[in-house]
Amino acid sequence: MILASPTNTNSPEENTLEQFRLLCQKHGIKLTYQRLEIFRVLLSSTDHPTAEEIYARVKEKVPTISLDTIYRTLTTFEELGLVKRFYLFDDKARFDPNTKPHFHLICTKCQKILDFYWPEIKNIKIPDQVKKWGKINQLYLEFRGVCRQCQKK
Ligand SMILES: [Zn+2]
Ligand SMILES: [Zn+2]
Repeated sequence: MILASPTNTNSPEENTLEQFRLLCQKHGIKLTYQRLEIFRVLLSSTDHPTAEEIYARVKEKVPTISLDTIYRTLTTFEELGLVKRFYLFDDKARFDPNTKPHFHLICTKCQKILDFYWPEIKNIKIPDQVKKWGKINQLYLEFRGVCRQCQKK
């Protein structure tokens, strides 16, 4: 996953409804019922869902919502630093409400994505060749393999 970049001061330490309210207020974004429900669904989704999966979950509470609204709202949330977008096995974007620096453990069999914290990575020595190349804003790292449950099968 992406480590918080030093230039990005937008990301809150932890996502909460209160943070959400304050951010909307600060940026002059209306706190509509739809936005609130989309945010609630995101907060309770630890499985890194796609926009379509979020749509299906929000639709249970807000039957009139459109997929287009979901897309637009997710882009707004991304700009506010409330959610991170990333890509995996296919070209479908996935959304991660966990804004704390973390990495992903990805099972290539069941495709489950787990969050994984590794604060010690801050202490790694960046190779000279990389430093010579330019300025680093992000470090991307993920572990892919087969989870224990899939190994048992
Ligand atoms: Zn698995
Ligand atoms: Zn994650």
